[in-house]
Amino acid sequence: MNIENLLRDNIKTIKAYSSARDEYKDASADMIFIDANENPFKTNVNRYPDPQQSKLKERLASIKGVKTSQILFGNGSDEVLDLLFRVFCEPNRDNVITLPPTYGMYSVLADLNAVQIQSVLLDDNFEPRVNEILKTQNEYSKLLFLCSPNNPTANSFNAHKIEELIEGFKGIVVIDEAYIDFSNCDSWISRLNEFPNLVITQTFSKAYGLAGIRLGICYASEYIISILNKIKPPYNVNQLTQDKALERLDELEQVKQEVDSILEQRIVLANELSNISFVQKVYPSDANFLLVKVDDAHQRYSQLIERGVVVRNRTTQPLCENCLRFTIGTEEENKTLIKILNQL
Ligand SMILES: *Cc1c(COP(=O)(O)O)cnc(C)c1O
Repeated sequence: MNIENLLRDNIKTIKAYSSARDEYKDASADMIFIDANENPFKTNVNRYPDPQQSKLKERLASIKGVKTSQILFGNGSDEVLDLLFRVFCEPNRDNVITLPPTYGMYSVLADLNAVQIQSVLLDDNFEPRVNEILKTQNEYSKLLFLCSPNNPTANSFNAHKIEELIEGFKGIVVIDEAYIDFSNCDSWISRLNEFPNLVITQTFSKAYGLAGIRLGICYASEYIISILNKIKPPYNVNQLTQDKALERLDELEQVKQEVDSILEQRIVLANELSNISFVQKVYPSDANFLLVKVDDAHQRYSQLIERGVVVRNRTTQPLCENCLRFTIGTEEENKTLIKILNQL
């Protein structure tokens, strides 16, 4: 498979912007930096950040068992996904395949980039319909989004189906692993080197507890990462974000404890919810949220708002009629939620 053939024509020949910090990297404390028109007086962040986030990449690469050259960071996964559109999808010609019900950003970004969306509904078990997806692709299908564990259905896709799709799809397969840390399934990172058309996205927003710093991760072949690197805004990940993420990567024990607590609470909450009179189904979850079918989603949503609880109403999504999505909170929050639900 020749990935270069999938690139947009303008990307094949594009030249990256070279920033002052790109040109001179070996900073040592006693040098004078008058190359970037910064203010020389210290504020902690008076210097432009490292455009390649080298320290953060080295730390993450060693944790995840990949090369630093297989990592790209973005201002949230949302920026990473947008860069993928801009690298591979020719506006007003190409298309991407999404599998509703799924994460809303894929179609928002497709619209933004004037790229068509081909949707192939998940089946009744919320699994990809492999044959239909492969039949739907055409020569202009550039990206296939597999969100696993999927938002809002909370399940991980069957690994054999994912593999068939990576092998059968002629474009780039993007596996969105935003919720992988809550899942029993292995990340596809360990299989990255087998598939030149595989791209994996993860994020610091969920398990790592850093939604506020906006840091998304893309793992792919060195070739794909090198192309994404050429077109990313030079300083897309700010210094405060890089510092905070590095700090958090030194607290992996704490992260694991929080994830364990969420997983414990997922069982408790699923149990409690299934005993609520108007709850019809609690779907199995491999993520940090539960998809729950109720009698009347609009009514229950409003009742919860009136009582100070904000949940996500997913009833307008295909296959999600009358479904609400509950993020797993603290034990305290979950108890309050159950108490309120029982009062309705
Ligand atoms: C929350 C979420 C993300 C995270 O996006 P960020 O921009 O990194 O915060 C990505 N994908 C899915 C499916 C999500 O639900």
